[in-house]
Amino acid sequence: MSVPAHSSSSPRPAHRRLRLADDRAVHGARILALANQKGGVAKTTSTLNLGVALSERGLDVLLIDLDPQSNATMGSGIDKNALEYTVCDVLLDDIAAADVLQTAPDGGFTVLPSNQELTSAEVELVTKPDREFRLRKALAPLIARYDYILIDCPPALNMLTVNALTAADFVLIPMQCEYFALEGLSALVGTIDKIRATANPKLEMHGILRTMFDPRNNLANEVSSQLISHFGDRVYRTVIPRNVRLAEAPSFGRPVLFHDKYSRGALAYLALAGEVNRRSGAPLPRPPP
Ligand code: ATP
Ligand code: MG
Repeated sequence: MSVPAHSSSSPRPAHRRLRLADDRAVHGARILALANQKGGVAKTTSTLNLGVALSERGLDVLLIDLDPQSNATMGSGIDKNALEYTVCDVLLDDIAAADVLQTAPDGGFTVLPSNQELTSAEVELVTKPDREFRLRKALAPLIARYDYILIDCPPALNMLTVNALTAADFVLIPMQCEYFALEGLSALVGTIDKIRATANPKLEMHGILRTMFDPRNNLANEVSSQLISHFGDRVYRTVIPRNVRLAEAPSFGRPVLFHDKYSRGALAYLALAGEVNRRSGAPLPRPPP
């Protein structure tokens, strides 16, 4: 079994460690599920890069890969084929999440990884009596260790996504501003409402993130205006531009902040980290190095 230890990116002043530790003791980690049943809208890209951007600002971050595609695991530089245990063992066999954690090779954040076995977990979970609550129970011993726990959801409103939404305090919805986007959003908002009414009354929509945005595209601008008129200030002010550095970073097994920290994509995720953190009522991050 490898590297269950929790690690932190960069040294930080003792008074700051104390302040964050105090804050965590009061609130526990903020748990954000990044969800959208539509495929390819940048859920994984946003989980990874928001996670790294928060940790660059001095916060302790855990990423949970809840997708059998394992893109967040691989994009963190972790070899999914070399894992002894994964989030699947946590959900189905009550293996302690703390024993499955991996430190991303570039440092800075911790990952609860997945591999393709999670596909069968989705089916098996349905037969468990406490099926919606398995992730929430597994995370309980970890929430005092982190400032943020980010969950990368699969592109489906299935039992894995239901587990994420039941464990989370907030949902962050990445979306591309294109033709069917708003229609998909109403199905997701319906699911969030159902989970709030049943398994998780504290669940809130944290915000809607416009991803892969191209301001020269008229349709993108139109959908963006419609989003703002429907959801008002729930739409983050930060917009993630279409950026080739973001697209190529996973092929190096690195989030973009380690691949090209001055790219437009990296700067956008740093800005998003500031906005997310302010909106969460968390302690203000230190300025990026
Ligand atoms: P899935 O639903 O399959 O899990 P996803 O919602 O997690 O997909 P990603 O895998 O993050 O989406 O992104 C889809 C593709 O778009 C990837 O190839 C990714 O590298 C690329 N991509 C994401 N964000 C950007 C961006 N801002 N600019 C350019 N390419 C991007
Ligand atoms: Mg994904």
